[in-house]
Amino acid sequence: MKPTELVVISGKGGTGKTSLVAAFATLAAECVLADCDVDASNLHLIHHSELVLREPFSGRVRASIDPDRCTDCGICEAMCRFDAILPTGGNGSSMAFHPTVNPHLCEGCGVCAWFCPEKAIDLYDGEDGHVLLSKTRCGPMVHARLGVAGENSGKLVGLVREQARELATMRELDTILIDGSPGIGCPVIASLTGADMALIVTEPSVSGMHDLKRIAELADGFGIPTLVAVNRWDVNPQLADEIETLAKEQGLEFAGRIRYDNAFSRAQLEGKSVLDIESNGLADDIRQVWSVIHARLDGMNQPEAL
Ligand code: SF4
Ligand code: SF4
Repeated sequence: MKPTELVVISGKGGTGKTSLVAAFATLAAECVLADCDVDASNLHLIHHSELVLREPFSGRVRASIDPDRCTDCGICEAMCRFDAILPTGGNGSSMAFHPTVNPHLCEGCGVCAWFCPEKAIDLYDGEDGHVLLSKTRCGPMVHARLGVAGENSGKLVGLVREQARELATMRELDTILIDGSPGIGCPVIASLTGADMALIVTEPSVSGMHDLKRIAELADGFGIPTLVAVNRWDVNPQLADEIETLAKEQGLEFAGRIRYDNAFSRAQLEGKSVLDIESNGLADDIRQVWSVIHARLDGMNQPEAL
């Protein structure tokens, strides 16, 4: 049976999305965790995970010039639209033309390799980051680290998702909990693609309302059941009411409200789950929201009647 994938998203960073995913993982029976917030991956910090495997990730190819075959004709420099080929060999000398490629500027278009008369240019897979597999007390976690100036976080998210699915199938785990990227850009689209259900985490602010509308439209395009939870609702109860109304008007299921409590920060400092920390009702709120989500997931995990 295909594992059910729940992706938790938000219109912007800082809504508490990752902390909630970590708490849901504690409440779920064993599941696979996938941290798709690859630009600011931190689910592994909350869960104090243990790294098991690390594989390089290539977002795009780059050009490389073989100096033994190159005759310094200069055609490649003239053809590169991205100014990625340095005419001086990168050493600042203007005495001779010995081209080299700046890998940070190279877009991997291959034009230089195509036009090089000596076939002295090869394209190779650049290293833009790593895909990581870690152990957590809630189950295996796939996450990633994008390198400095690393690119193509959408492709990296796709890879994290793919590996999470393979793991879930291999270990016969029926749920994948995905910490999605914030915003509405390419990484969040990659987080939503192929997911079975989305939870939007928002907060009671004017920008929270605005972000909710944008991300709800995006999720709607994927045609998957979408739920909404308001985090720190008691910071502005009136706006929390308005968000609940807006969510329902947009045909989204309202999963519940979570109160403000610094237990999340205390839990991180103490290396514990927020559910193990004494709080003023926060853990009950999270359990309540999870029970709504879990009921929906359970419905999806039931094998279809023959
Ligand atoms: S086009 Fe080929 S031979 Fe000419 S400078 Fe570039 S790498 Fe060298
Ligand atoms: S592959 Fe394209 S971007 Fe890279 S150096 Fe060659 S022409 Fe420039």
